[in-house]
Amino acid sequence: METLENLAYLASIALFILGLRDLSSPKTARRGNRRAAGGMLLAVLVTLLDRQILDYTWIVFGLVVGAAVGAVTARRIQMTAMPQLVAVLNGLGGAASALVVLSEYGRTGGLMTTVGLATLAASLWIGTLTFSGSFVAFAKLQGLMTGAPVVFRLQQGASACAAGACLLLAGIFLIDPGLWYALPALAVLSALLGILLVLPIGGADMPVVISLLNSYSGLAAAATGFVLSNQVLIVSGALVGASGIILTRIMCQAMNRSLANVLFGAVGSQAAEGAPGAGSGERRRVTGYEPEDVAVMLETAQSVIFVPGYGLAVSQAQHALHDLEQVLIGRGTKVRYAIHPVAGRMPGHMNVLLAEANVSYDLLATLEEINDEFQNTDVALVVGANDVINPAARTRKDSPLYGMPILNVDKARTVVICKRGLSPGFSGVDNELFYDPRTMMVFADAKQALTRLVNLLKS
Ligand code: NAP
Repeated sequence: METLENLAYLASIALFILGLRDLSSPKTARRGNRRAAGGMLLAVLVTLLDRQILDYTWIVFGLVVGAAVGAVTARRIQMTAMPQLVAVLNGLGGAASALVVLSEYGRTGGLMTTVGLATLAASLWIGTLTFSGSFVAFAKLQGLMTGAPVVFRLQQGASACAAGACLLLAGIFLIDPGLWYALPALAVLSALLGILLVLPIGGADMPVVISLLNSYSGLAAAATGFVLSNQVLIVSGALVGASGIILTRIMCQAMNRSLANVLFGAVGSQAAEGAPGAGSGERRRVTGYEPEDVAVMLETAQSVIFVPGYGLAVSQAQHALHDLEQVLIGRGTKVRYAIHPVAGRMPGHMNVLLAEANVSYDLLATLEEINDEFQNTDVALVVGANDVINPAARTRKDSPLYGMPILNVDKARTVVICKRGLSPGFSGVDNELFYDPRTMMVFADAKQALTRLVNLLKS
């Protein structure tokens, strides 16, 4: 029985790894999800069939309620609200790990190996920190509290004190596992630490923090796996922990920020330098165009690159963009989509939106694949993107974007930028490209402008 159980766990671990590999490309991501979900189903079934389970009543109740809540939420959630959903899921994962180790302590009365006790304390610490931090992140993203960084005097000192006290309590518990009250005290302090760590982070940096908290929830699960001596939990927790930290690193690199700057920089708490209206006070001319002008350009263009950004998600213009692509391809125009790694507000944001609109994966190109092609392109059509095309990232050393790889839209023969006004993007800095004489600014909601363009080209 035990060998069979271990073989089944091994199969589910293999499915998790294959699933993760598939998730690295939009073409195979759906299969990756199915594989990983299959692996999880297998792991849950094998655990349920474990002979140590005497009564299934509460387990079945939990499965039914959890599955119903999960299915309804997954179907109803808006794509733009995905980061806060992930935050809640991370938080619940952390809380589950903490509760499981607490109940294991109750069951064993603390009679465990030193490794068991140490991982119990680690799971409780990281799990509760993840829970409280994730719910602060959720509240910020859901607009239940201010999305801006919340900073106060001695904040970092308070966080350091809370972390030190957690370490002390964990040490006391390890020396005398009979001191049960060290555990609730550790849980309360860890929850406080989670709040203190996430409060000073600005709303738009939240996806990075959510990815980091995702990694923490994996570490808490892996620690719980050690407490329960459950291999599949150790491995799946480690996979979540590792992939979360890799994703965090990729996001920081693509934003040209260090993780320390994201966590402690309180970016967004002051008016950003270089924002429109700030600086020299010099007034620059911007020429606004109508969709009619752009339609004339597109009619004669032989190659067009679409550059989607956060505004595409806000306006939900992905279907209109796909319609425009179809009309242009029908007229013999070469069309591609340039996807910047941090366009939007979460990793893969543009890929998910475009997949929703059934855009062919073959038309999508990464920054590395497409950047040299802009110079041979007639029109770069930017839809709700701003920071990811800002040339200041190449030249202005004082810009927060400096060093971030950008899409070379300014190299295209004509640049069309569709956004509602001159507002800056996430970084808060102005964009020189808006004032370039070769740029056609179309000041409109992306969906409205694209729909108008499609109708004009069709007629
Ligand atoms: P962005 O720089 O934030 O700019 C988005 C632009 O969309 C805004 O300037 C806004 O201008 C426009 N917009 C908003 N609503 C619109 C609508 N209905 N129709 C048309 N335009 C609209 O976006 P981005 O170029 O995609 O860059 C992403 C930024 O987020 C980067 O700085 C990145 O570092 C950061 N970030 C990304 C991630 C990630 O994982 N993807 C995570 C954290 C942070 P108007 O208001 O004038 O229309």
